[in-house]
Amino acid sequence: MRGVIMHAPGDVRVEEREDPKIIEPTDAIIRVAAACICGSDLWPYRGIEKLEGPTPMGHEYVGVVEEIGPEVKSVKVGDFVVGSFFASDNTCEICRAGYQSRCVHNVVMGTIGTQAERARIPLADGTLVATPNPPTTEEIRSLLAASDVLGTGWFAAVAAESGPGKTVAVVGDGAVGLLGVLAAKRLGADRIIAMSRHADRQALARKFGATDIVTERGDAGVAKIKELTDGLGAHSVIEAVGTQESMMQAIHSTRPGGHVGYVGVAYEVELNGLDLFFSGVHLHGGPAPVRRFLPELVDLIMSGEINPGEVFDLTLPLDQAADGYQAMDERRSIKTLLLP
Ligand SMILES: [Zn+2]
Repeated sequence: MRGVIMHAPGDVRVEEREDPKIIEPTDAIIRVAAACICGSDLWPYRGIEKLEGPTPMGHEYVGVVEEIGPEVKSVKVGDFVVGSFFASDNTCEICRAGYQSRCVHNVVMGTIGTQAERARIPLADGTLVATPNPPTTEEIRSLLAASDVLGTGWFAAVAAESGPGKTVAVVGDGAVGLLGVLAAKRLGADRIIAMSRHADRQALARKFGATDIVTERGDAGVAKIKELTDGLGAHSVIEAVGTQESMMQAIHSTRPGGHVGYVGVAYEVELNGLDLFFSGVHLHGGPAPVRRFLPELVDLIMSGEINPGEVFDLTLPLDQAADGYQAMDERRSIKTLLLP
């Protein structure tokens, strides 16, 4: 099969890879209908994360089940399925508490590399959710968003306790931040402030439910949020970047007693103890347990209530993956979809 391999920073190739096989009796093999490039795929692309030799890429996927191991019961050959970036058994205590991304048996899907024609899905019963009927092309795009960026934005909105009566601020205008806006809207937030300085992303944020746009960043951004909230700060803040500046912007934009949902991977972020102490905010985040939300998200998508697939502003055949990486690296694309 064909699949994306990263050889070195900036060096992405589509090459022949060995076809996946059932290894564990709980595995399934899917034919990937659509995959995509993640903001986190840019870390090794930019040389921030070290590569240990040629590496298969991709952890977002939707597709059709082609083969199942003898112990798989909840999905069958021919089902259209969506899963997230962590395979999980969905039965251990951590999973049952709703934290499937930290499942005691979790498998990181990035090690499998789903930017390919086929993929092995471990713990298929726990990991995969089948759609009630075969999706349309449009629905496939939205289901793929649910695989990571929508599920992550949704978790951030839930962790930040977005809901009726709340003002939600969103730090980060990437796909996760934009879909955090959509999630906050669906959860009933009164007011949603998107922080973005890009016209195209501001427009999408408004389409997804943002009521206000703040273009300032850092301390100026915090001051603007306070100005819009009677000097108090937002009730709920979604942090979807993962830098020192964005994390501090999120904490300082939150009113005392408010909640920060942080899902940007916090590379080299350090929190000052006293600053945190006196902010009086709740912090909750981490790798999103997307699997917790997948059944609900699949329903909302298949009933046409949400259309998160709109975050994909570039669609390429798998063979042109290198162009997709470049477009995302140069921020010409919010999120690039790859068709095997
Ligand atoms: Zn588990």
